[in-house]
Amino acid sequence: MTQYRSIIRRMLCIASVALGLAGCLAGTALGPKKEGLTEYTAATGAPMTPEQQALVFETADLKFKVFPETQRLDGDATLVFRATAPVERLVVDLDSRYAIGSVSIDGTPRPPDTYANPEGRLTVALPKPLATGDQVTLRIVYAGAPHVAERAPWDGGFVWATAPTGEPWIASAVQGEGCDLFWPCIDHPMGEPAVVTQHITVPDPLVAAGNGVALGMDQHDGWRTWHWRTQDPNTYAIALNIGPYELLRDEYRSRYGNTIALRFWHLRGRGDKARELFAEFPTMLDFFESTIGPYPFADEKMGVVETPHLGMEHQTINAYGNDYRQSEFGYDWLLQHEFAHEWFGNQLTNVNWDDMWLHEGFGSYMQPLYAQYLGGDMAYYAQLHGQRVGVVNRHPIVAGRPMLEHEVYDDELGPGGDIYAKGSVVLHSLRELIGDEAFFEATRRLVYGTDTPRPGNFEPRYAGTVEFIEIVNDVTGKDYRWFFDVYLYSSALPELLATRDGDGLALQWKTEDDKPFPMPVQVRIGSVDGEVRTVAMTDGRGHLGMPAESPYTLDPHSKVLRALPHVAEYQADKKARAEKAKD
Ligand SMILES: [Zn+2]
Repeated sequence: MTQYRSIIRRMLCIASVALGLAGCLAGTALGPKKEGLTEYTAATGAPMTPEQQALVFETADLKFKVFPETQRLDGDATLVFRATAPVERLVVDLDSRYAIGSVSIDGTPRPPDTYANPEGRLTVALPKPLATGDQVTLRIVYAGAPHVAERAPWDGGFVWATAPTGEPWIASAVQGEGCDLFWPCIDHPMGEPAVVTQHITVPDPLVAAGNGVALGMDQHDGWRTWHWRTQDPNTYAIALNIGPYELLRDEYRSRYGNTIALRFWHLRGRGDKARELFAEFPTMLDFFESTIGPYPFADEKMGVVETPHLGMEHQTINAYGNDYRQSEFGYDWLLQHEFAHEWFGNQLTNVNWDDMWLHEGFGSYMQPLYAQYLGGDMAYYAQLHGQRVGVVNRHPIVAGRPMLEHEVYDDELGPGGDIYAKGSVVLHSLRELIGDEAFFEATRRLVYGTDTPRPGNFEPRYAGTVEFIEIVNDVTGKDYRWFFDVYLYSSALPELLATRDGDGLALQWKTEDDKPFPMPVQVRIGSVDGEVRTVAMTDGRGHLGMPAESPYTLDPHSKVLRALPHVAEYQADKKARAEKAKD
């Protein structure tokens, strides 16, 4: 993904005076400036309010009626919460562009002066406070024209397209702005409802391909309503996908003994290409199941839908818009990347956007790894090298503090594309450092919370960077904080200084702020057929005896991500040429 430019405004506090409460985000950066959105709605991942933190989000039942001609939406959302502490009002996020028709609590309509949605944070005063353990049902009926994406999936919202055969072709993609663009939710990574049902009404004969399990379709007066149910969806995973779809279906026998439904909704008239891509599904599944572990949503489906935007990791209904491009690596990288997020993003969800590299770094490392699985080392290193030359190093991958989505994605403010490319190459370096057994055990424990995942013995979970570091230390029995301090919490890459001296080669790691970096290094002495020796680099230094005139190669097997002046020069040259070509 590339990043959008944004202007951050720091707002101290927004008081919702009418309700006598402070919707207060002290010192928190709100959203980027986006046409037609409040800063609060444009942002995703703002800290949950105390009222939101005091609730368990049990179910969301979402009715959508979609009007392609007017690009409007009728919404009817019934949300069930359970209180884990006393609560006097309910707070959910919903774009304030929608006209709210009614709000009810436990089936009783609330007077309009008991709720307000001034900036996209809908606050509803309760008729009587909830005690710990109480359950409450909040229903919101609303209507309006959802925010239109400028450049989906990077700048999200709704895409109102036309299929090549002339029918409406509609998609939502809201990673950057959040679920509150079209349904009332808790727009924070940890705001997942336990169960979401959807009832999507579209003009006949359009198809609405949804998250989770299909519960059937009703036809009525020129409309069709498609029913879906899913569990523990990532908040931005709930998506509308509507078009003149045809469906490919198959069953996959997993190596874990269960059967997984395979489903691909493709556009009418693209059956031949779609069948070729569909034939890749079982191989991708088997790669992930044999390398990482069981497919997390086997009870629902492996689902893919053809979209008018490039792609997005919508849980069990991955958006695919790569136009069936062929690749020299023999697989569709876009589909494989989005599918990787079923493990890294949907099964494992970050606790905060600051940990987004756990989704995108692992998600991006799965492409070289899959290339290695399919075709061997040449393909692995070729893909990895492509990622390496894109590493920017302007900001650390992890800030170590809560971040909003756009702060992470904007490379002026945060790591931007480095959460993908650098994250991936860092994982390669970690794998080389601790070995395959420890690397994949740590990965499994991160994803499943156990090293022995089996269908039925795990649930979707949250984790952050700190937990991953603890897992690596626990699995290896060593303290690898120095590795993560340099690669994740510093922006500059470590530089390996090599100086010939009287009896060989003096080696030294140079790091930002002189952080310790005892990374062992291999050196090949002689030409390409020379002997490879390992230097321990304890205390970040080492020495290797070798003849004065001998050629040598540092890190001949490309195990360690490090600063390489020629890559930085190449990047600068490429950028200058691109800018010159624009003039
Ligand atoms: Zn991704």
